[in-house]
Amino acid sequence: MATAVCNAAPIPARGTAERAQLVDLLRVKAKLSRRETVRLTRIAGAGHYTSTFSAAELFAAIYYARLRYSPSDPDWLDRDRFILSKGHAAIGLYPLLADVGFFDPIELDDYTRLGSMFGDHPDMRKIPGIDFSSGSLGHGLSIGLGMALAARISGRAYRTYCMLGDGELGEGQVWEAVMAAGQFRVGRLIAIIDRNQLSIDGPTEELMGVEPIEDKFEAFRWRVNRIDGHDLDAILDAFTDLDDNADALPQLIVADTVKGRGVRRMELDKNWHVGNLVGEDYDDVMAEIDGGLQPLLAEVGK
Ligand SMILES: [Mg+2]
Repeated sequence: MATAVCNAAPIPARGTAERAQLVDLLRVKAKLSRRETVRLTRIAGAGHYTSTFSAAELFAAIYYARLRYSPSDPDWLDRDRFILSKGHAAIGLYPLLADVGFFDPIELDDYTRLGSMFGDHPDMRKIPGIDFSSGSLGHGLSIGLGMALAARISGRAYRTYCMLGDGELGEGQVWEAVMAAGQFRVGRLIAIIDRNQLSIDGPTEELMGVEPIEDKFEAFRWRVNRIDGHDLDAILDAFTDLDDNADALPQLIVADTVKGRGVRRMELDKNWHVGNLVGEDYDDVMAEIDGGLQPLLAEVGK
């Protein structure tokens, strides 16, 4: 069967018209992710806003510029794998999976209702385009390492991407996976850390410090790149910079982000980890998201 592959072409170089066009598209898709997160949360009565907003630009860049997949053939063996290890941000990923064609967007209207394929956390057995059922934190990177090693053994050239939360670094078996990936030089394993400063309980550095992240991963034999995770050009450059050699060091992109980015009342406020906007608040937030990313309050001195 002929497979239509998304993102088969290289990412256009910075400074070209094609690149500017791509960044514009990604901005629109990040907005779609945020808007739909707010809409779907109201259907469910609760949702993970801030963990999703911090990852919106990353989701857009991964699905519309980098990951190779085929919506008409979700199980295509040569597809790149993507594991959303911070599974609670799935609410912002489902709308993009619908938008690229894995399923009809109308399915989203029953989000979390009885019989819907969508839970608060993603289920690989039900949702086309989901490669792993995540939500129990700290396991995704080990699964990703297994997938990447499977590619090596089976002679396939796909890459495996795994997005982790920063709070997640203190959970599960993350560091066993980091250590093993360095040992086995799994170059086609790419971890992306959504470094949004907070976990559900507060600032990571007060609860279980993760810095210096670069030094930690480099000590475990990883190649590390640290970027602004809301700067679409920086994300695209980081993807372009990845070493495609299967025997290279495993690769980490630390994406410095702001939890709740795009909705000022939520930015860096742990109390919006889970919430439900209704009435005027709902309309205000939708309008704010439509306006695109504004400077952070901290940057304008408020
Ligand atoms: Mg976090």
